[in-house]
Amino acid sequence: SVAPEDLYSFGVKHVTKGLGRITEGIMTKGEGSYVYYDNGKQYLDFTCGIGVTGLGHAHPKVSKAAADQCMNLVHSQCSIALHEPYVRLIERLLPIMPHPSLDSFFFWNSGSEAVEAAVKMARQFTGKQNIISMQGAYHGRTFGAMALTKSKTIYSAGVHPLMPGVFSIPYPYWHQSNMPPSTSSSVLSANALYQLELLLSQQTAPADTAAIIVEPVLGEGGYVPAPPEFLQGLRDICDKNNILLIIDEVQSGFARTGSWFAVEESGVKPDILVIAKGLGNGFPISGVVSRTELTDTLKPGSMGGTYAGNAVSCAAAVAVNDVMREENILENVQARSNELFSALNHLKYDPSLNPHILDVRGRGLMVGVEFASPSISSHSHAHATSSKNSNHNNDVKHPANMASRVAKKCIEKGMLILTTSVYEVIRFIPPLNVSKEDMKKGCAIFAESVREVVK
Ligand code: PMP
Repeated sequence: SVAPEDLYSFGVKHVTKGLGRITEGIMTKGEGSYVYYDNGKQYLDFTCGIGVTGLGHAHPKVSKAAADQCMNLVHSQCSIALHEPYVRLIERLLPIMPHPSLDSFFFWNSGSEAVEAAVKMARQFTGKQNIISMQGAYHGRTFGAMALTKSKTIYSAGVHPLMPGVFSIPYPYWHQSNMPPSTSSSVLSANALYQLELLLSQQTAPADTAAIIVEPVLGEGGYVPAPPEFLQGLRDICDKNNILLIIDEVQSGFARTGSWFAVEESGVKPDILVIAKGLGNGFPISGVVSRTELTDTLKPGSMGGTYAGNAVSCAAAVAVNDVMREENILENVQARSNELFSALNHLKYDPSLNPHILDVRGRGLMVGVEFASPSISSHSHAHATSSKNSNHNNDVKHPANMASRVAKKCIEKGMLILTTSVYEVIRFIPPLNVSKEDMKKGCAIFAESVREVVK
């Protein structure tokens, strides 16, 4: 057998090179906000396994619920029988849905599968084919989800053709509209909605368009919250044209943004809601929620999947939901979010760093920091006019690859953190129950890292 000290190199040799990684060594333990490796390293985890372990690693109540379920029933296969955790999970989720009409549930394993199921349902419900997604969007890695994903070419390079019938409009993020960074959210929203109107009259007629899919906070594409008026505008256009609105809350759902779901801020009703990640705190489970009035038209057997709605994952998700209420998670998110924003804005306006941090944005504990890049100083940055950026000095040279260099420094200093997309953005996704002390520590590591990189 492979000696413990050789396990990592054995893994590196035999695990597909198609997987990238930000750390070395074998992760052996996760507890609360920390992860531990066989090489003796330990990290404060501000990635949460990409927005998954909101309650921290191995939350005892969640792990116990899963272990208990393991001793009772691991797998029923949902086309053979419903099991209790499946139904209990629905009981827990119904009251927190962002709209009371969302009352029909289908559980899957991953976000990508749930996105695919949402597309499938939208086509079945409307009898129409085309789907519109956002530039910069991330919806997953399977062929349909990959077709909707428009954040980086790496995900689909060399594997085209993808699912046909996909169109796109800009997300209200200045990069996607090639506008200056200071452009107001109402201008960006108006532009994106105008592009949508054009798309519907020039490329995909409403009679051919089944759905629009949108992340209420653009995730992999840069951690950009959608202005409420943008989501409201999408809702109006969908209503006028008999198009369904699919809200992808895979990353933003389950208290991540300070409310159960990010879409709540806009008051917009999703026709189909896609959930995953925080739902199971690490146990593989995703879901598609819609209206019984729509799903009652589906033929039994048209949905399914061997592991869909696995009993252990459902039992874990029930416990996650209970713990989130017991631990007043929404309050902790708000308190820690205020501390995080205040620390990041303090850095942004620090005169010695001032031109380098272009934007601090987000909701709750889904927060992005965008650095200025060399191309920005010569291009859009020169247009910056709002008070937000007025004290930027356009003559200062911005270091290249700031985000990845800062992230690397943070990791060296003991904190796991991720970048996003093709822009210079670092994303903060700390545990939702992170302590005040650990938040302070994370902010200090980040500040030190930024200072060292710009030095
Ligand atoms: N939608 C969004 C918004 C996501 O952030 C992700 C994953 N990052 C997915 C879908 C795909 O989920 P999964 O990786 O579980 O397939």
